[in-house]
Amino acid sequence: MKSQDYIALDNQYCAHNYHPIPVVISKARGCRVWDAEGREYYDFLSAYSAVNQGHLHPHIVEAAQEQLTRVTLTSRAFHNDKMGPFLEKLCAYTGYEQALPMNTGVEAVETALKAARRWGAEKKGIQNGAQNIVCASGNFHGRTLTAVSMSSDPESYVNYGPYVPGFVKVPFGSSVAVREAIDDDTVAVLIEPIQGEAGVVVPPNGYLTELRQICSDAGVLLIFDEIQTGFCRTGRRFAWQYEEARPDIMCLGKALGGGIMPISAIVADRNVMEVFTPGTHGSTFGGNPLAGAVGLAAIEVLEMERLEDRAYVLGERFRAELRDAHLQNTRIIRGKGLLNAVVFDDSFDAFPTCLALKEKGILAKQTHGNIIRFAPPLVITDTEMRDALERIISVLRTA
Ligand SMILES: *Cc1c(COP(=O)(O)O)cnc(C)c1O
Repeated sequence: MKSQDYIALDNQYCAHNYHPIPVVISKARGCRVWDAEGREYYDFLSAYSAVNQGHLHPHIVEAAQEQLTRVTLTSRAFHNDKMGPFLEKLCAYTGYEQALPMNTGVEAVETALKAARRWGAEKKGIQNGAQNIVCASGNFHGRTLTAVSMSSDPESYVNYGPYVPGFVKVPFGSSVAVREAIDDDTVAVLIEPIQGEAGVVVPPNGYLTELRQICSDAGVLLIFDEIQTGFCRTGRRFAWQYEEARPDIMCLGKALGGGIMPISAIVADRNVMEVFTPGTHGSTFGGNPLAGAVGLAAIEVLEMERLEDRAYVLGERFRAELRDAHLQNTRIIRGKGLLNAVVFDDSFDAFPTCLALKEKGILAKQTHGNIIRFAPPLVITDTEMRDALERIISVLRTA
């Protein structure tokens, strides 16, 4: 079948909850993908940063294949021999005492919110039902009812009511607003260190440190959603590490699965994690042995290849070269590491530009109409980056 035939099938049988770039990917390796006709592209989205290690990284594929000959699913009714070593590695890599494994990113967010509400009731004596959590406008924490109840994007929440109560929204980037929003019933502040879906919005320097200080002073938990920014994407292992801002809970997902399968988790120290007792939270698939094998290998690749350093260096070059190109129409070029965005004028429709990029062999997707995110796998080589940058600049010149 040809690409257009697959697209027709998708349109006929899949709910229209996405508006994809019309390309049908049928093969991938590293930072490159191929369509059904065999045309080659650079992947500059990396499945929203779930493929930081590159497509089909041999070390992760080998771990998955080996595990597929042993056991893949046990449920947590029994122990398995892969979860423990995986979570030991995750804790060592993140610097936390414990982890709670789930599957998708939004489940990690949900888990963090449940931990915080319980912590507030049990450790702070807040009446159950009164707990509130401060979040930021422009956030993206996933697609469940709880997550869209926090959203300020009508596309995400309209007609899904009634919404989950207990959230207080403040402008992103203002620590003063967070301080003022905290009251006696606040249990946590939940923030993305860089807002990915909002268009790679980088907060002012010092914001994260101030949030840490405010939460410590007020005795509330600081939760960072590092699902998109984490695991080396921004040039640090985690984006908060640009500042003195170690959170009480980190939500992790996307690249934790090494591009192979959904794997998520929260990490925290015991004083928080101990609010969960047998039966109070769980997941059939969370912590399964296949995920254990893949997650462990995914972290090993980040570590062995020091991908935070690659992301940092290549990201600096990427933004510098785009700025030096003095492109018309582009208002802002922003980002950290290899999480970057080109922002056009508010009225600009970037979809045709994404189609033009595709014709030049670059796959990228606009967000909010006028912003294009550029986030290739972190294993992209210097030569590949130079080639890709030339193509991107040539398209944006005529945008
Ligand atoms: C993608 C994302 C999520 C949701 O992850 P899913 O795996 O799609 O549920 C949550 N938070 C952030 C910041 C994300 O980028």
